[in-house]
This record gives sequence, C-alpha cells and structure tokens, in this order.
Amino acid sequence: MIIKTRSESAELMLLRSLSIRMSLSEKERSNFLNLEKGFKGEQQFDKWFETNFSNEGLILNDLLLESNNTIFQIDSLLITSDVVYLLEIKNYEGDFYRDGDRWCTLSGNEIKNPLLQLKRSESLFRRLLQDFGYKISVEANLIFINPEFFLYQAPLNPSIIFPSQLNRFMDKLNKKSTNLKDRHQKLAKHLVSIKLKDSPYTRLPDYCYDQLEKGISCGGCNTLMDDIDAKEEILECKKCGNKEDVPAAILRSVREFSMLFPDKKITTNTIYEWCKGIRTKRTLQRILSQNLNLIGFGRPSFYIFFQAKPD
Ligand SMILES: [Zn+2]
Repeated sequence: MIIKTRSESAELMLLRSLSIRMSLSEKERSNFLNLEKGFKGEQQFDKWFETNFSNEGLILNDLLLESNNTIFQIDSLLITSDVVYLLEIKNYEGDFYRDGDRWCTLSGNEIKNPLLQLKRSESLFRRLLQDFGYKISVEANLIFINPEFFLYQAPLNPSIIFPSQLNRFMDKLNKKSTNLKDRHQKLAKHLVSIKLKDSPYTRLPDYCYDQLEKGISCGGCNTLMDDIDAKEEILECKKCGNKEDVPAAILRSVREFSMLFPDKKITTNTIYEWCKGIRTKRTLQRILSQNLNLIGFGRPSFYIFFQAKPD
C-alpha cells in the first residue's frame, strides 16, 4: 500500500522551468539534468515495484527527514512487519569502475560514492527510529535500476542490488511472511508527519521576471511552444505533437508562474504577458475566473488558487 506518493522536488520543477526560459550555466545545467535523470529512475523503480510487489507492506516515497541535526533524503521506504527497507535508487547509465572508495565513470569523472551515501542515510534513519522509541530492524539497499549500468570491480556487498539482481530481490520481498499491525501504520503516519517539505540546501540560479522568456511551455518536450493559436480548443506542439486543452495549458502556466514568482499577483494582464501568444484576454479571463478565486474588485483585483496545491 502506498502511503506517500512521489512527486518532483521544488528544485527540479524550478530548474525545469528555468531551463526552458533562460540559459543556465554549465554547472546549473548539469545539476538539472542529474535531478531529471534521478527522478526518471525513481519513477521507473515505482513502476517496477508496483507491477511486481505482491506482498503486504507500506511504501513511503521520497522522504526528506532530519535526524541528529542533519537532513537526509530517502528515495523509498518499505515497511514490513519485522524489517524497514531503506532503498536508495540510482539511475546510473553506462560503464563505471570502483577504485577503493572512489567511484568513477570510465572516462575518469569521479562521482559521489553511493555506498557511503547509503550508509549515512541508514545510520541517520536508525538514530531517528531510536530517538522516537521504535524497535524494528532496518535493512538498507542500493538499487541500480537502469539495465544499461555496469560497474567494474564491484564490491562484494549484499546491500547493492544490480539490475540483473532485481528479480531475485523482489522474490525475496514477496516470499517474506509479514503481518502488519497498527504500530506499523503508526510509524508510517509518524514519518509522513515529520518529513520536511524542501531541502534548505538547494541552490537555485538567480533569475528575474524580465530576463525569462515568456510563452506556454510544452508538457511533452519541455520547450516553449511557437505560434500557438488559442482560438483552437487544443494546443498542439509543433515539435513533438503533444496536445493539451487550452484551459489546462494555461492553468499549468499560471502554476508555473506562481511557483517562480510566489510574490507576484496573478492578474489577467500579468498572465496575458506570461502566456505570450494567447490571442485574446477574454479567453484568458474566462479560464482564470472559472478556475481561480478572484480577490477584490476592479483594477487592484487578482486571482488565487482555490486551495493550496497538495504536496
Ligand atoms: Zn512538445
């Protein structure tokens, strides 16, 4: 049973939007691509897990927690009756090698040692359980989800699950006899209640409104759509063919705008400029008034979403 679903981090969503609307430095771009790739891997893991896991268990995805004054991230947690599995998911692709504690791509670029990352999360998580008085064992696994990953000189370490071992790992989970009780539910709810929203350590590029390119982005290929004709009911991306209802595309753009500029007011004029290419303000006004709450009257009025976005 999924107790907490996965969603993109605020950092990834912001970087995705900025990457479409401004040029990122090489470092920012590589951070963005890493986050995007990591998220795709996690989604792939979720799909694989959902299809194959047939046992009883509580699943909590992407938890940002704090223990011992340190913030750490858990990609997936599976609570069974006697063991909590802490799963770190990696979407590495291509050939890598290990030299002692150093992990490198074959071209020689050193990456963060994922085993050390796993050990750190594991010990912080054990400490957290201990601090709250939970007595349950923890097993941490490093899961390489991408079938195109290969590691030369791999360590003999049973906590690593390589792509060719995924099926056997799942068999092991499915064969466990498990009997969930109230205390397991309590633990799951407790973890959700103490999770942090966003990491305070994310470093975003500097950006301002004037510098960003305006227009509606395509949800299919993450580029700005050219020559949109909002008189049609459907917007079609000329690059990838993705189709979206006009109201849905506009509301997505409004959410993007308010994510990038939480302090700016949503008005027909600002959104008209933001969604560059929409032919008439009338269309826009209709969509905004049907889907958002209008605050105030006349010129100083602005819109807000009916309710906060679920997280
Ligand atoms: Zn597209």
